[in-house]
Amino acid sequence: MTTASPTGPRTAAPAYAARATDLSKVHGQGDTRVVALDRVSVGFGQSRFTAIMGPSGSGKSTLMHCVAGLDGFSSGSVRVGDVELGSLTDRQLTRLRRDRIGFVFQAFNLLPTLTALENITLPMDIAGRAPDEEWLDSVIRTVGLSGRLTHRPAQLSGGRQQRVAVARALACKPDIVFADEPTGNLDSRAGAEVLGCLRDSVRASGRTVVMVTHDPVAASYADRVVFLADGRIVDEMDEPTADGVLELMKSFDVRFRTS
Ligand code: ADP
Ligand code: MG
Repeated sequence: MTTASPTGPRTAAPAYAARATDLSKVHGQGDTRVVALDRVSVGFGQSRFTAIMGPSGSGKSTLMHCVAGLDGFSSGSVRVGDVELGSLTDRQLTRLRRDRIGFVFQAFNLLPTLTALENITLPMDIAGRAPDEEWLDSVIRTVGLSGRLTHRPAQLSGGRQQRVAVARALACKPDIVFADEPTGNLDSRAGAEVLGCLRDSVRASGRTVVMVTHDPVAASYADRVVFLADGRIVDEMDEPTADGVLELMKSFDVRFRTS
């Protein structure tokens, strides 16, 4: 896609599913003031799988929460598609989150008294919307939960619980799925299953996925990795390999004294 720019020659306009511009987020004040994000500008390409990496406390969760409309910010702007989040009322923001965004939390956040299927359809039940059964079936097949839908979370392994959380995020056909360390609590095999599901949802359905991870192998499932340190984007890598990411992380230890 190209667009004519009033200030110069025709330039390719990248399609972003979501984009932060000069985004800052300050927590607290005075002695407890923490700049969690310091003028971050980053775009998450449409139908792309982006990983966010960086040391603990570098602002990864804050960035995702702000871009997903789960948390307010101090300055700058966030766009989801062509909608500016700052221009929305609380009600409009809730609706946008519900209709266009799926979120996978690190701690699964499943309700223990509900079955796997009930957990997956809960957000739609709350919104009073009937699921698209065909889509729901395909999501459940993709995450490999077909035989376990009547199980409660305690009857499922960690990997399966996290796949329920992924299915719940995908069930309402969101444009973008945000996942905060979705494999952080999983062994490598269960982690690979969850990562495969996320990657499939990009490849097969053209969804956009943004994932925080500490793990270079998890990051290698992504199309692109952006690295945060001290609330700023400090580097990025396209078509990451686990070895390449590991090498870059080692160089950060020297450049930013991160560990
Ligand atoms: P990460 O996900 O990379 O570990 P976070 O985004 O959680 O980092 O946190 C970034 C910085 O903001 C950290 O210094 C953290 O302590 C601080 N922070 C995060 N949430 C809050 C909060 N609710 N109140 C005060 N400080 C916070
Ligand atoms: Mg975090």
